[in-house]
This record gives sequence, C-alpha cells and structure tokens, in this order.
Amino acid sequence: MSDITRCYPQLYALSERLLAAGQLAETNLEQAIACLDHAELKSLACIGIPSRFNPWETPAFSNVDYSRHLQIIEYLSRTDASAMMLLPGASLSTRAILTLGNEQQQARFFACFEERPTWTFFAVTEPQVGSDAGAINSELTHDEQGWRLNGTKTLVGAATLASAGLVFARYLNSQRLVMVFPTERVPSLRRDPLGAVGLAGAGLTRLTFKNHCVAQEDILGHERRELLQGLNSLSLVFERHRPMVSAMALGTTFGLLTALGTRTLSSVARRWVAQQWRTYHAIFQQMLTVADGYSNGQHQHALTSQLKRNATRLVEDTACHLPHWLNRDDWLEDHLLRKRYRDSFAFEYMEGTSHIHLLNSFRPPVAQGVSL
Ligand SMILES: Cc1cc2nc3c(=O)[nH]c(=O)nc-3n(C[C@H](O)[C@H](O)[C@H](O)COP(=O)(O)OP(=O)(O)OC[C@H]3O[C@@H](n4cnc5c(N)ncnc54)[C@H](O)[C@@H]3O)c2cc1C
Repeated sequence: MSDITRCYPQLYALSERLLAAGQLAETNLEQAIACLDHAELKSLACIGIPSRFNPWETPAFSNVDYSRHLQIIEYLSRTDASAMMLLPGASLSTRAILTLGNEQQQARFFACFEERPTWTFFAVTEPQVGSDAGAINSELTHDEQGWRLNGTKTLVGAATLASAGLVFARYLNSQRLVMVFPTERVPSLRRDPLGAVGLAGAGLTRLTFKNHCVAQEDILGHERRELLQGLNSLSLVFERHRPMVSAMALGTTFGLLTALGTRTLSSVARRWVAQQWRTYHAIFQQMLTVADGYSNGQHQHALTSQLKRNATRLVEDTACHLPHWLNRDDWLEDHLLRKRYRDSFAFEYMEGTSHIHLLNSFRPPVAQGVSL
C-alpha cells in the first residue's frame, strides 16, 4: 500500500475514475469531463484555492499540506497524469494571484469557482520566444480609450475551456500579469486548441489578443513601482509548481515500471527494472525533501531544478526502454501503456526545459531567472 493511500483511502476509487475519464478523453472530451464530475475529485482539484473562495472543499481534502499534495499528484499520475491535467481547478495562476493580487483581485478571479470548479490558465509562452520569458512580445498599452492587450500566446494549458486566466505581457520596459476572463462573446480574444501527441489532457491552446480591453483593476501589481518585486514573486510561483511536474513524471514512471513487472522479461530487463525502481525511490525521497524545504520557507531553486530534471529524465529513460523490453504483442496491444509512453516525453517541456534549468538554477530569484 502506498503511504498516501493510508491518509486518503478514497484515492483508489478516484484513480479508477481518472482511468475511465482518460479513456473517454481519447474520443469524447465532453463525456470525459462529465466523468470527472465527482465531489471528491472536485475538492482535490481545488487544493490550493483558499477556503474563502472555494465552495468545493470537502473535509477530507481541506488543509492538505504541500508534501501530501505532491504525493496525491504522484499517486494519481500512476494511473493517468493526462486525465488528472484535464481536471478543472487550481493552476499556476492560483499561486500567482495569491502572491501578486490584492484582495479585490483575488475575489474577482476566484468568482468563477462559485457555480462550479472551472479551468484557469497561465499564459507566458509565445511563438519564437518560448523559454525566454523576458523577451515576450505581447504588449499592454494605454491611451485615452483605456488599456489594451495585443499579442499571441501558445502552448497554454487548459485555456480553451477556461473562465479566467493570467497573461504575462510587456508594459513599457517592464512586464505585468493581466487578468483575462474569456467568453465566446469577446472577439478580441481568439482561442485555438492545439493538437498534442502526449498529455492531451493539458488542453494546449493558442491565444490571440487583438486590441483586447483590459480594466485597470485587472492588472496585477499595477500600483507597484518596484516591478522586480512582481517578477521575483513569479519565480517563487514556479518553484512551487515544478515539483508538481516532477510528481507527475514520477507517478507515470511508477505506472510504466508496474506494467513491466507484470510481463515476462529477460533477466537483463529484470535487473534494469530493479535499478529503475531504486532510482524512482531515491527521487521520490528528493521530492519529499524539496517539499519540506518549501514548506519551511527555504529558497531552493537549484534543488527544485535538479528534482525536475531527475524525475523527467527517469520517466523518459523508462519509456524509451519499454518497447524494447516488451515482446511485440504486449507493446502493440496495450493501448494504455502506449498512451503513458506518449505522455512521458511532455513533462520535460513543462515549466522550464532541462537546458533552461541548467542555465538558470544557480541564479537568485530575480527577473532574468524567470522562465517557464
Ligand atoms: C504539457 C505542457 C503544458 C504547458 N503549459 C503551459 C502553460 O500553461 N503556460 C505557458 O505559458 N506555457 C506552457 N507550456 C509551454 C512550455 O513551458 C514551453 O514548451 C517551454 O517554455 C519551452 O518553450 P518552446 O517550446 O518555445 O521551446 P524553446 O524555448 O524554443 O526551446 C527549444 C529547445 O531549445 C532549448 N533552449 C532554448 N533556449 C536555450 C538557451 N538559451 N540555451 C540552451 N538551450 C536552449 C530548450 O531547452 C529546448 O530544448 C506547456 C508545455 C507543455 C509541453
């Protein structure tokens, strides 16, 4: 039994539901989303949203500490990380709003959760700019008619279905995060879903803003003169979310190795699987250490980057060997395993590629250290 299921035995049933939703998502997104409509899944997906804005909190999943949250993500990813990403609820923007938004902005942003848990997005990546978040072109301008947003964001998770999101935009010589509330009735914001080979549940989307009206109160930190303060806070947001990507990569590795364990393997392959399990357990411990440090207020950029790099390398390495260790029919007939295989290669690109972590992790959390 996994430690985390001792605390939350309902995770067994919830992971079964995720598995069903993940399979439905291959052919019918609407049915998959309907399958995720479950009180405890909603509560779990809204972990991180403060109770005062979160009507979906259940007693079991209230006050979940960071370490347990990571373990829950890891556990559910053993079944289907992609289906977990399909869940509406908290996202990177949650932490950003809580870090940079004032009370009115937080209330306005989280109002979209009143009726049902909904999706939110955090848009930084742009075509041609990608990892270099400091070089973004999306621009916030101001004239006598008010504030306007122009630009294109790409590879933004959950944005097609989202009711609210944050957009990272240039304003004069600085950058700002702007709250955006998309509806079909706003032609100045276009949303195009993007195809994906792995982690389709992430719902990657391209966003195009053409003279999109922005209310002044929707600009985070507008009143602040010290803009580095805002970017510095952004780095801290990423530091919280990178271990979550690691947790998903670790959970996916668990799923792959467990599947291998049920097959007839050569002795060389069995030894290799045993070594992968040892590495898995070591990285799992590293994740718990990072979680403790974060909860105790430590700034541990290098360690967080190392964790993400270790976890994403492990899942890719495991996936790469999979088709070679399995016999041909096992590989061709196990649809779920091949789906997990495809997902395995998407984690490295989330919240900073390994190259970018190697370049930036030594830096203190200042503007040039910010990258997705
Ligand atoms: C599942 C998924 C979910 C995502 N969700 C979001 C989201 O919600 N919001 C969002 O804004 N973005 C999101 N992204 C985008 C992700 O953060 C980007 O993929 C990432 O920023 C990389 O950008 P890029 O694809 O343009 O690659 P590039 O930045 O063009 O990089 C291409 C390659 O070049 C390397 N490289 C780049 N610069 C350097 C350098 N200076 N030195 C050495 N090597 C370098 C990179 O490591 C990489 O291997 C998501 C991506 C995925 C896969």
